[in-house]
Amino acid sequence: EVDVAPEEENLKPPPLAGENVMNIILVAAECAPWSKTGGLGDVAGALPKALARRGHRVMVVVPRYGNYSEPQDIGVRKYYKVDGQDMEVTFHHAFIDGVDFVFMDSPVFRHRENAIYEGNRVDILKRMVLLSKAAVEVPWHVPCGGVCYGDGNLVFIANDWHTALLPVYLKAYYRDNGMMKYTRSVLVVHNIAHQGRGPLEDFGVVDLPGHYIDLFKLYDPVGGEHFNIFAAGLKAADQVVTVSHGYAWELKTSEGGWGLHEIIGENDWKFRGIVNGIDTEDWHPAVDVHLQSDGYTNYTVETVQEGKAQCKAGLQRELGLPVRPEVPLVGFIGRLDHQKGVDIIAEAIPWMASQDMQLVMLGTGRSDLEDMVRGFQGQYGDKVRSWVGFSVKMAHRITAGADILLMPSRFEPCGLNQLYAMVYGTVPVVHAVGGLRDTVLPFNPFEETGLGWTFDRAEPGKLIHALGNCFNTFWNYKKSWEGLQRRGMTQDLSWDHAAQLYEQVLVAAKFQW
Ligand code: ADP
Repeated sequence: EVDVAPEEENLKPPPLAGENVMNIILVAAECAPWSKTGGLGDVAGALPKALARRGHRVMVVVPRYGNYSEPQDIGVRKYYKVDGQDMEVTFHHAFIDGVDFVFMDSPVFRHRENAIYEGNRVDILKRMVLLSKAAVEVPWHVPCGGVCYGDGNLVFIANDWHTALLPVYLKAYYRDNGMMKYTRSVLVVHNIAHQGRGPLEDFGVVDLPGHYIDLFKLYDPVGGEHFNIFAAGLKAADQVVTVSHGYAWELKTSEGGWGLHEIIGENDWKFRGIVNGIDTEDWHPAVDVHLQSDGYTNYTVETVQEGKAQCKAGLQRELGLPVRPEVPLVGFIGRLDHQKGVDIIAEAIPWMASQDMQLVMLGTGRSDLEDMVRGFQGQYGDKVRSWVGFSVKMAHRITAGADILLMPSRFEPCGLNQLYAMVYGTVPVVHAVGGLRDTVLPFNPFEETGLGWTFDRAEPGKLIHALGNCFNTFWNYKKSWEGLQRRGMTQDLSWDHAAQLYEQVLVAAKFQW
């Protein structure tokens, strides 16, 4: 009861055995803790471990952006053609928590820890071409623990437009030529807003047989006929997954699909929503290493009232806010861009500042929005703190120290911060969209059920209404508040459940002809 770990042990399904064991290779542009700009990195770091716990042989292939300490050079050198030019790649390997992590090294990836997706459009495309192309052959060339995976009983999991070329290469270079007969691919949509769009001339960069251009051609009222990598990946993949049910539905609408809704609709038979899990070794208040110094403390559902009070005081002290247990402390963590609705917070902030509350915001992103967030602190100095920067430690401390987490995202494929918040007894107030609607069941004061507050339009008035109800409960209905915290903290949000659903998709891909 005290710790989640033993309970999780009990819930863990028995590992698969014998002929059902698959070789699985997840390929992504980022993987936590080595590289991460958002939820994709977290998924790439955690899902493979959960699949390995179910008995599969699992590998992650990700670029080597920096000098990581654990992975060792395994002395394999290969060349791949990108835009007509030979590019060399080498590989580093580490076996961690049952997973083979393979880091692909090339000068084009180096020193990009904070700039994975930055640079000239064609240069980014070339990096992703190299990653996807070389990754397909990793099971042939890269021994892990002395033995290559081989291509029998193998499924690739590609992620977002960055690696959406992998299913296309698998087909065009290998399957069409009688190779990799028993290999399949699954493409996961973490965010449809980025698609690898460009002019049709981009086709020259991806090095494919001429007739493959049709897979990439997309007509769009805004951009006209253009080249679209995500479109090709969606068509070529054997199965497609997205990160929540709500987002799966939205992707098929013209507003939510960003031009790809028709392709997704046509491929509905191989399309499925699976809500992300969370890494409960990294994100759990009982074991969180970021709560073990500076006055913070670890806590569990049994000790949440004292533990959270201590973390809240720690956060108030660390950020120079008045140390007051009785004010609701609202947190925001996320990329500062249009998606996350920071501008909606901006419109609501005069009302928020008129209340006896505190607001802490952590984020990086668009420079105008960074300036705006800095401005909040200037204007409402005794109530608002703005931390413009990327700090994993601060993200953990806000998650633990805040009473409320605010997420007014305009769209949110899954969203991880609201999941982390609930596990830490922090009550989410969110726009009911995508994964937020799936995961934050609205509070019902008559039945004492639900997990937080939701609002049905991404507008300041709606946000204020929801947050007002939330403050009211915080101030006046302590038992209800504690119930919200307890229900949030005792959910099973681990990856073990999500991994079981992924396994069904992988099996479906495997038996698809
Ligand atoms: P997205 O993938 O759209 O950015 P998610 O909610 O799925 O959104 O995942 C965001 C992840 O990035 C979370 O783990 C969150 O804690 C982290 N994160 C976002 N901004 C920051 C920041 N400024 N500092 C530290 N972590 C951040």
